[in-house]
Amino acid sequence: MAYSYEAPVSQSLFDRASVVTPGGVNSPVRAFRAVGGTPRFMVSGTGPYLTDADGREYVDLVCSWGPMILGHSHPEVIAAVQEAVSRGTSFGTPGEGEVALAEEIVARIEPVEQVRLVSSGTEATMSAIRLARGFTGRAKVVKFAGCYHGHVDALLAAAGSGVATFGLPDTPGVTGATAGDTVVLPYNDLDAVRAAFAAHPGEIACVITEASPGNMGVVPPADGFNAGLKELCAANGALYISDEVMTGFRTSKAGWYGVDGVRPDLMTFGKVMGGGFPAAAFGGRGDVMAHLAPAGPVYQAGTLSGNPVATAAGLAQLRLLDDAAYAKIDAVSAELRSLVGDALAKEGVAHTVSAASNMFSVFFTDEPVRDYDDAKKQDVFRFTAFFHAMLEQGVYLPPSAFESWFVSTAHDERAVERIAAALPAAARAAAEATA
Ligand code: PLP
Repeated sequence: MAYSYEAPVSQSLFDRASVVTPGGVNSPVRAFRAVGGTPRFMVSGTGPYLTDADGREYVDLVCSWGPMILGHSHPEVIAAVQEAVSRGTSFGTPGEGEVALAEEIVARIEPVEQVRLVSSGTEATMSAIRLARGFTGRAKVVKFAGCYHGHVDALLAAAGSGVATFGLPDTPGVTGATAGDTVVLPYNDLDAVRAAFAAHPGEIACVITEASPGNMGVVPPADGFNAGLKELCAANGALYISDEVMTGFRTSKAGWYGVDGVRPDLMTFGKVMGGGFPAAAFGGRGDVMAHLAPAGPVYQAGTLSGNPVATAAGLAQLRLLDDAAYAKIDAVSAELRSLVGDALAKEGVAHTVSAASNMFSVFFTDEPVRDYDDAKKQDVFRFTAFFHAMLEQGVYLPPSAFESWFVSTAHDERAVERIAAALPAAARAAAEATA
């Protein structure tokens, strides 16, 4: 595919990066390999906008893959960071900021009685499954195809996100011994979960699921699916782990738990709670968390866990996320969904706009999408054409058909108008695209 526009400064930075960094990026999806073209190197962000190294401005519908729920450079978050930085950047001791952030999480999410702070979502899920295994004395972990839980060895099998984008069935470097205790099941299929418990009696430590998946595109749980998981786990002595790294503090004040009310044994968080800094967490039932060192025998630690700057940013962000903020995000998401759907319908492009609260994505198929296999049946080539037409007109979408789109409180009328203006040409490009 040829592109009618160029990004020479980004291209030269990418050339430099490719010499010193594998594939030129520090996280695979950023390389644009699924859509082709030059990845944009961003230099600044304000509100709903990003500016790249060539000086071009974009309306940002990635929001750093979720964290920037108040938009970029929110003045109160920046002020909190500046205040924290002025007192030092890391002490390697306990500090009040991490207590306050833990209290905020516990106050918002009722099933979380205790929480441990870490630095990435990957660390959170890795630690949660270790704790589940330590608590139950069992080895096996059930996960669902298309759900991504970070690049934890045991959880990379049939993962979504970048693994879906690149169509990698598995990744070299994960040994049979590590992956052998992972049972991968189709999403939204409670019979498969029942069968797995029957096939491995007394062996399954936990079922981990994205609370509402966003890493195969947005595929919400069918009615009763999460409740069914919880029931099956309870009946079989396994823990139910809800991964809310993406949905947490985004899909409502209490994340997806605030939407479906299904009470997990353990939960994982990241993204929004770090305010754009590396902060994440796992937490849940007090009796389970009590098994964690130093209170209990399951080891877990981190040099930068509870970092004072990251916790200040996260706390400032969470405190600004009141009911009015969620109402605003939900409204802008609904407006964009209907604008995108209308534009594609007008051009006769087969599509499904799939939403879970304010998270949404567009599948280029009109067949229902209930699991990863369904998601893979879409016309990815149409997304590619759509993506580039939007980019050319100054709208930055996730560079993959298998990712959620994210909006923020900063996406105001002007930003929405710019997106709306770009949609007709992008829908036409999708209609005209060929495989
Ligand atoms: N879990 C979910 C649901 C995610 O979406 C992600 C990242 O996208 C992770 C875990 C991993 O988080 P991190 O990238 O911070 O390691």
